[in-house]
Amino acid sequence: METLVKKHDILLLSRLQLFRNVDLLSPALHDLLGSCIYRKLAVDEVVLSTREENHYLYVLLKGRLVIQLTPHDDIPFATVEPGECVGEMSIIDSRIPYEKISASEETTVLVIEREILWRMISVSHEISRNLLYIMSERVRYSNIVIADSLEMQRKYQRYAMTDALTGLHNRGWLDDAFDREVKRSERDQLPLSLIMIDVDNFKKYNDDYGHLAGDHVLTAAARSIRSPLRPNDLVARFGGEEFAVLLPETNVVNAKFIAERLRESVSKADPGILDEKQLPKITISLGVAARKPKDTLDMMIAAADVAMYHAKRKGRNRVEVAAGESAKTK
Ligand code: GH3
Ligand code: MG
Ligand code: MG
Repeated sequence: METLVKKHDILLLSRLQLFRNVDLLSPALHDLLGSCIYRKLAVDEVVLSTREENHYLYVLLKGRLVIQLTPHDDIPFATVEPGECVGEMSIIDSRIPYEKISASEETTVLVIEREILWRMISVSHEISRNLLYIMSERVRYSNIVIADSLEMQRKYQRYAMTDALTGLHNRGWLDDAFDREVKRSERDQLPLSLIMIDVDNFKKYNDDYGHLAGDHVLTAAARSIRSPLRPNDLVARFGGEEFAVLLPETNVVNAKFIAERLRESVSKADPGILDEKQLPKITISLGVAARKPKDTLDMMIAAADVAMYHAKRKGRNRVEVAAGESAKTK
């Protein structure tokens, strides 16, 4: 249903954002307003769609409009409250709207046709200023939305890079972060060492005490590995019961010393109580490798892995250093 704007509506219209401090009784504006209409919208009636060009500015007088960025979105992106307007962007840039706007309840809007709006802009400095203000609010709001969604993105990225059980970084993160560190150490000619860690007889631990106990003790092990390290050291869960630690600016002698500290830290850690039963302590075997010139991350991992298996063979709960490096630590 549509009706024309009447003279006694001026007081009501002068309260709208678009007409703030505007002399609506000036003859030129009064004539222009006289050719605008009110329209009553039914629930779900669409005023702006992403399929059609828009020729109108809609000022919401009563009710509520909802903005949807994708046509089938159930959750509205934003709502428009009485006093606010929609459609100004597509009128100014003559582009198809990028959002769908519809009434979520019975709604009344003032409809200003594009040509009339342009004429209002040319006769009223205040209307131009108000429109600029409205558009800058819109841009500011969009910026807030963008910042929020970037924050969300970062949060999900963090989830994607973190191991849910232990809270340590996962293999995906390790590949990136460790690789960067290897390249940095190559470029800056700084020492770099890697420790590969594997929990001893963990299959038996699971068999004897249950998988839940195994999970519990893995989390405790992760804490005991992380806590004696420096903030710059990089730790990740490498796989099931395996961990990897990268030590920037650390030569093999110091790396072996640190590995020994980690071994001790895990072997002394109390895994706590589960189902009213004290869980027994665990031990780890560690292999240390220092970066040699031209070594890639994979080569360092392979060397540290071999050393770790030596530690297993020599009886577990011990640290071994990669061949060629061990002499330096003696
Ligand atoms: P070794 O001392 O030679 O390393 O013996 P191991 O038993 O630790 O080695 P093996 O590789 O045979 O077994 C590893 C076990 O770790 C098997 C697997 O069930 C367990 N495991 C791997 N990931 C998890 C996990 O997230 N939670 C639990 N509870 N167990 C895990
Ligand atoms: Mg293993
Ligand atoms: Mg193991």
